[in-house]
Amino acid sequence: MLKTSTNGFASDVIDGERLLHRLRELAHIGATGDGGVTRLAYSDDDIRARSLVAEWLAEAGVKSRVDPAGNLIAHVVGRGDSRGALATGSHLDTVVRGGRFDGAYGVVASLEAMVHIVESKTPLWHDLVLVVFSNEEGANGTPGMVGSQVLCGFPVDVDQVDRAGVPLWKRIEDVGGDATALSEAVWAEDSIAAFVEAHIEQGPVLETERADIGVVTSITGRSNLDIRITGEQQHAGTTPMTDRCDALVIAARVIGEVSTLAREGVVRVATTGHITCSPNVWNVIPGLVNLTVDLRDEDDNRIAEATSRIHCLANELSTTTGASIDVRQGPQVPAVPMDHQLADCVSIAADQLALPSLHMPSGAGHDAQLIARIAPTTMIFVPSIGGVSHTPQEDSHDHHLVAGANVLLRSLRLMDQRVGGGDS
Ligand SMILES: [Zn+2]
Repeated sequence: MLKTSTNGFASDVIDGERLLHRLRELAHIGATGDGGVTRLAYSDDDIRARSLVAEWLAEAGVKSRVDPAGNLIAHVVGRGDSRGALATGSHLDTVVRGGRFDGAYGVVASLEAMVHIVESKTPLWHDLVLVVFSNEEGANGTPGMVGSQVLCGFPVDVDQVDRAGVPLWKRIEDVGGDATALSEAVWAEDSIAAFVEAHIEQGPVLETERADIGVVTSITGRSNLDIRITGEQQHAGTTPMTDRCDALVIAARVIGEVSTLAREGVVRVATTGHITCSPNVWNVIPGLVNLTVDLRDEDDNRIAEATSRIHCLANELSTTTGASIDVRQGPQVPAVPMDHQLADCVSIAADQLALPSLHMPSGAGHDAQLIARIAPTTMIFVPSIGGVSHTPQEDSHDHHLVAGANVLLRSLRLMDQRVGGGDS
């Protein structure tokens, strides 16, 4: 690890009160009334939140634009001729009944860091890019991380329809993008010298370890499966138990086995988060069930092993019950290590601010894991109270939110000196 005795930028801190105020402002948009937020990607509330962030940037004299993928992007020119920009950002969309800080925190922390750099009259040598990624969470059955996938040049099927029957290309258009020009949104090779995303931890590790800052070392890989179980829809009163092919009973077996895979250590975590049952009527034996499986691990081989076990289980259950069980591979994101040099910058920034930090993997998926495929990347975590996230109870202490943004600002200053031919 790099060591430094430099403790510069003593007064170089973000406006903490403004950061907290802006987080509260964003939390009003899509507020659920019990502390949470429902701000699905491409919804009117998502558009309002993005417009508010663009307004805040404009107030600081920073222009922003929407790229063809629907990402909101701001660009501040640096004073050097360093190759590649420093980039930072996160997302504003949430899950249904999600929290106030997942995504929004990283956007506002990045915004405050950028605005501070602009207002401090000490620009970076590198150009600085702020990105609000579009559709990180995968609203209404869309794949998620759409904006970051496009930036990385990965293919996105814009003709796929969401649960409301609306094609992705239309959703992208709704937020000001242009799905016919996605290739123009791709970040050119070497255009990004470093990317750093601040985020709430969404788990309990920092709080348990009494650390204020998480220096993220890797992001776990993720694989989604769609399972369709076709049994026989029959009368609930007249069909003997021995003659049934009940799709929901078979689904219950699958769900139990998926959870067991993780409990037995085959894969780090495994979840069934979405299920539909047809006809979903109290006096009819279910004939059709669709369910999802979400597998995550730091090791892609372990995810592959869990996937293979689920295929075996489906074959076995199909043979013993007579049901037709179709297991389809959904979106996959490989596990990715973070960049050591950038992680060191975060570590040093935390040390300089006298904040205890901890090196840790991220259990949640983030846009950063895609950006890491094309540019050196790291993440900064701040503690989540009780480790809860993706619920209205999601919360973080004010002093942690402010501290994380200051670590982000100072990390950007350090990266400016240390990466991509920076000059100071
Ligand atoms: Zn997030």
